[in-house]
Amino acid sequence: MFSLIDAVTSNGYAWRVVRAESVVAELRLSITNAGLGTLKISTDASLDTASLRRVFEQLVVKVFDENMVRKLQVVVSSKAQDAAVQPLIVALEKSGFELAARAPAAGAKLSATKLSVAEAMAIATMARHIDLNVWGFRFDNGKRRAGQCNYTERVISISKHLVAHHSLDEVQQVVLHEIAHALVGKDAGHGPLFKKQAAALGYRGKNFTGREIAANEAPWVGHCKAGHVHYRYRQPTRPLACGLCGKTFSRANQIVWQRSKAS
Ligand SMILES: [Zn+2]
Ligand SMILES: [Zn+2]
Repeated sequence: MFSLIDAVTSNGYAWRVVRAESVVAELRLSITNAGLGTLKISTDASLDTASLRRVFEQLVVKVFDENMVRKLQVVVSSKAQDAAVQPLIVALEKSGFELAARAPAAGAKLSATKLSVAEAMAIATMARHIDLNVWGFRFDNGKRRAGQCNYTERVISISKHLVAHHSLDEVQQVVLHEIAHALVGKDAGHGPLFKKQAAALGYRGKNFTGREIAANEAPWVGHCKAGHVHYRYRQPTRPLACGLCGKTFSRANQIVWQRSKAS
């Protein structure tokens, strides 16, 4: 078993992978102003893929969820032969990284986006609970819903906008929600059977409101006098009052709309 230790440096982020109190790999992250991160990994020890994968999952979730980077490139190097690097490459590929180039000496360059990492995590999670020969995965463009379980096509889909504007942990929660649908079937809806199954998978049941996506994607933004913010994907055609200020329509609570910066 490995663990990931934060290493304090004066210029940027660094981690050490530790096994039985000895350092087996060093990781150093540098970030450009455009949000491209380069993680340099050097190792001479022999490492196993399964535990490395857990280390990378932690690290990758951290760099994307704390918005450290938009895209992450990994450069693997070793003074030893390929034998030390190969398990690292396999672990990274399983975590959503794509091999870009193999260096002539022992080493390689790989890269991933939050979307490719989310896809790898979704597929790995699906593989633990449902048959991937039966169920497929894809992304969709949903803005008002986070994901979908399509029983006809037997496909679980997750919104690209969800990935863009939510944390990977929240994306993972939606994946678990959809897997629960796949397991209990369409007729169960969101009833007790579904709730029990979802909870057993680790779904925490937080409702998706679509607010984070709307705040970034909706072309219309409105404010009431009290300062409550509202979003619409289409231009409102009739006067609307703020539902947070009052249950019935009142001119005093009317929302004033304008084009948002997102449009
Ligand atoms: Zn549902
Ligand atoms: Zn209001």
